[in-house]
Amino acid sequence: MSELNDLYQDVILDHNKRPRNFGRLAAPTRTASGDNPLCGDRLDLEVEVRDGRVEDIAFTGAGCAISTASASLMTEAVKGRPVAEVEALSERFRTLMRGEGPAGEELGMLAALSGVRAYPMRVKCATLAWHTLRSALAAEADTVTTETE
Ligand code: ZN
Repeated sequence: MSELNDLYQDVILDHNKRPRNFGRLAAPTRTASGDNPLCGDRLDLEVEVRDGRVEDIAFTGAGCAISTASASLMTEAVKGRPVAEVEALSERFRTLMRGEGPAGEELGMLAALSGVRAYPMRVKCATLAWHTLRSALAAEADTVTTETE
């Protein structure tokens, strides 16, 4: 199990150091901002949705290693997928973070964040990107905060 933890830690460190899909899109159709005041994480998300599919996605912002890695992993996980699948994946990730059930193969590298569950404060760092994505897909314009749940 510790080997797996090491792998997961490597994934998080790598995505924090070299975040994927970091930047801005030329033609976003949805945007949302997220804020986790408990940690000081901020996230601006841009999504290009075409024909019910997440064609492209990018983020900017500043936060801790967990929030950056989670946003990076999320963009890789959802890019190119139909919105319905993205919503289902979002729900499965939320279930994982609540500690209700195993990671499951469909989560892929998102499971790297499962270790965060032992640290309730850090769970919000990991879920910030997904809160923000849900807000973007729901076309809610306002900044979301992890403190509304
Ligand atoms: Zn954080």
